[in-house]
Amino acid sequence: MSDGIRRLPAFTALSGQAVLDGHRKGASIQLDETYFAGQIRALQADEFPPGERRLAALRDSRETYESIDVEVESLTEQHLWDASRRFRRRLRTVPEVAHLDRHFPGHCFVVPEWLRTDNRLHYGARVYLFREDDAPTPETVMQENIAAVVADSFGDFERYQGRLHGYPDCCIDFYQDRSPDSPAPEWQAIAPFADRIDEDALGAGPAGSIDDVVPAFPDTEAEYAFFAREFFPEPGCETARTKGRAVYDTLAAVVDERLVEDYFKLTFGFNYLVAQAVHTGGNRRPTPGDLGREDLLFYAPLGELTTLPRYS
Ligand SMILES: [Zn+2]
Repeated sequence: MSDGIRRLPAFTALSGQAVLDGHRKGASIQLDETYFAGQIRALQADEFPPGERRLAALRDSRETYESIDVEVESLTEQHLWDASRRFRRRLRTVPEVAHLDRHFPGHCFVVPEWLRTDNRLHYGARVYLFREDDAPTPETVMQENIAAVVADSFGDFERYQGRLHGYPDCCIDFYQDRSPDSPAPEWQAIAPFADRIDEDALGAGPAGSIDDVVPAFPDTEAEYAFFAREFFPEPGCETARTKGRAVYDTLAAVVDERLVEDYFKLTFGFNYLVAQAVHTGGNRRPTPGDLGREDLLFYAPLGELTTLPRYS
């Protein structure tokens, strides 16, 4: 494992390492308030020495990101392209984008991301991580996104994006098969394992521990299928299980196994919270620390995390 990747937030470093090792095509980070605030809070945790320079860079990044004004004249391909180019130029001035690019030993780029719901246009930004020799161009990703938004066929982009993240086609099909007569796919994926979560322990937030929220995970072979945040495997999918097992093993070869175990617990817990929100009709996103102390600490650089007694 390179020194560079150890400087990335642990979540990002571990998903990026699975990409470098060839077990996933790509991984991504949504550049949002959760990402910035999570890191800022983690760096200030008592467990770590003060990291003023990094803190200043993160605050600067958050401010720069928030100051970006995005305007789209109308919902045409041309106008979305114009807005995307302007937006992307600004995104590339965010120090965090340069930080990720400098330290990830593969191919890394930022792109705007558009989403259309009920004729409203939403936007965000996503940083992708790929291997050097197996990466699409930023323009290709933008083109897929823009075409889907203009045609109001977001499912097409979702499918494309699922493949970029190395999700099996069968699980993407399962995820997109939504009917009012059956529970949301997110919940169908989680339900068989929902008893792994101790609901009573969840309320403690960063004062609690993932050990109490998800005491034993992955326990059975099937549970390895949860190898990425926001990936909801089709129940019983062997491809997802095999892939997840490979991700687990490749990471356990380079960092303490306890850390990999926590990474899987936190990933499953995150997906549980997302699925539960979808299932009950809410839309609250998990915030860093919801799943316990470790959930917050995983926003700190991997190199800091591996100095903790728990992981060394
Ligand atoms: Zn599958």
